[in-house]
Parts: sequence; C-alpha cells; structure tokens
Amino acid sequence: MKLPLAGVIGCPVGHSRSPILHGAWLKQYGLRGHYVPLHVEADDLERVLRAMPAMGFVGANVTIPHKEAALALADEVSDTARQIGAANTLSFRDGRIHADNTDAYGFMQNLRDGTPGWRPETSPALVLGAGGAARAVLVALTQAGVPEILLTNRTRSRADELARALGDPIRVLDWESYAQALPQAGLVINTTSLGMDGQPPLGLPTEALNPDCVVTDIVYTPLETQLLRDAKARGCRVVDGLGMLLHQAVPGFERWFGIRPEVTVDLRRAVLEQ
Ligand code: NAP
Repeated sequence: MKLPLAGVIGCPVGHSRSPILHGAWLKQYGLRGHYVPLHVEADDLERVLRAMPAMGFVGANVTIPHKEAALALADEVSDTARQIGAANTLSFRDGRIHADNTDAYGFMQNLRDGTPGWRPETSPALVLGAGGAARAVLVALTQAGVPEILLTNRTRSRADELARALGDPIRVLDWESYAQALPQAGLVINTTSLGMDGQPPLGLPTEALNPDCVVTDIVYTPLETQLLRDAKARGCRVVDGLGMLLHQAVPGFERWFGIRPEVTVDLRRAVLEQ
C-alpha cells in the first residue's frame, strides 16, 4: 500500500504553517504518511495537480495565489467552494480532483469555540475588509443565519462587488462612517490586514462598542492585536485568529488520513512556536 501523502501548494509556500500543523497531528495519532510544502508556479499548477495522485498524494491544501485557479481546474466543486469562489482543500479520488473550501468552517468553528453560548441569529455583524478572506467569513455568517451583515472596506467597490455576488443579508457601509454601526453590532470581525505585524493598527474606536459585542480578528500575527486588546478592555468577548487556521485544516486531514483530529492547546502552542 502506498504511503499517503498530502501537502500545501503555494507560491511562495515557505511561510505556511500547515506542514507543522498536519505533521503534529500525524505524530499525535501515530499515522503513516507525510505532509509537505510544495512550491508550484502558476503555469505548472494543472500539470502538478494531475500528476500528484500517481505519486501517492491523496489531497492537498492550496494557498495564495492558486486558490481561484485550483477551483477552476477541479472536476468537482463543493457548494461552499463555489460560493466563496476559491478552493483551499483538494482531494484526489477515482482520478478526479474534488475541491472544497474549509475557511468558512474554520472561521465559524473558532468563533463558536471561543464564545460558548453565542447566538449568531440574534444581532447584526460588522465585517471590516473585502479581500479574499472576507468572502469566506461572509459565507460563514450567512450560513450561520446572521440576520444582517454590514460590510465595509477602504475600497468601497470591492465591498459592493462582494455584496452583489453573495446577496442578502449583506449591506455595504462607507469606510469613513462605519463607526456608526458599532453600538448595534453583536459581532465585529477584522478581515483586513491592518493590525498585522508591520502594518498600521486598525484604529477601530472600541469605546463605541457595546460591551456585549463579540470581537474577532482573523489576523494572528500578533496573536493579540491592538483591536483585541482594546475590545477586551471595553469588556467585550474576544477571539483571536489562530483557531481559524487550525480548524480549517480539520476536514482535509480527516479526508486524507482517516481520523478527525482535535484542535487543542498543545497544537496551538506547537504552531505558534514554529
Ligand atoms: P487581501 O485579499 O489582500 O485583502 C486585504 C484587505 O485588507 C482588503 O480589504 C484591503 O482593503 C484591506 N487593507 C489593506 N491595507 C489597508 C489599509 N491601509 N487601510 C484599510 N484597509 C486595508 O488579504 P486576505 O487574504 O483577505 O487576508 C487578510 C488578512 O487575513 C491577512 O492578515 C491574512 O494573514 C489574514 N488571514 C487569516 C486567516 C486565518 O486562518 N486566521 C486566513 C486568511 C487570511 P482594500 O480592498 O481597500 O485594499
């Protein structure tokens, strides 16, 4: 029997924490198999994907800049991947490429884990940012039944485009005036790259937040962003972004290696120490 292989395909790929994450699970569960980083140029993507099953690959994660191209190349696409417009998890079965996107699942699972008792259907959510990650977050919120999603982005046209593509219940607000929505928001999510190491802080006026609001940042370097620190000081429940990365990996690992892995404190530590 072939040793099952999986990996992460990106360009560049050296920064990816997925090999540490999957490697830790393989070790923890005593499984045979390997998970490797694969640097693949855009022009080679299709050839590489078609050749992988013969080399023993049972699947792969896909990261920047190949997520949209992988979706287009797949033979079968999940509803969620189609809605998000990008694939991050591929499985090779029966000579076919199956594409899924687990970022929405990862985002929501992390949020639910961090806020026991939180009920998505009870209040509006404010989403900051309209880049690639925002799409998965918006799909997750829609699937969870959030009644109103207010979306704001520095470049308004990108937010308008997302709202048009994903439809109800998303409504776009101007970046300059989004603070007006803070007192009513039950959930605030930063999906911009602001607050990341080397980037300016988001600068959200946390004094306008309702202390019952849940605040989450998908940026996880640093783990506690200025936004999360200020929101915590305001009395809000906060959830950091690392868990999204960990949880999005669960469905792929289960499909490829046959065990549904757990996201634990030790795993968080192992990934942070990379
Ligand atoms: P992206 O597609 O490049 O989008 C970047 C977003 O940030 C856009 O909305 C952009 O607004 C906004 N932005 C950048 N600089 C800004 C500034 N100076 N002022 C206001 N807005 C600014 O990136 P992405 O893939 O969505 O990723 C966004 C962040 O999420 C990154 O930090 C990434 O590491 C993180 N992330 C985390 C996870 C996880 O698992 N936790 C998963 C994916 C991504 P414009 O449209 O106006 O440029």
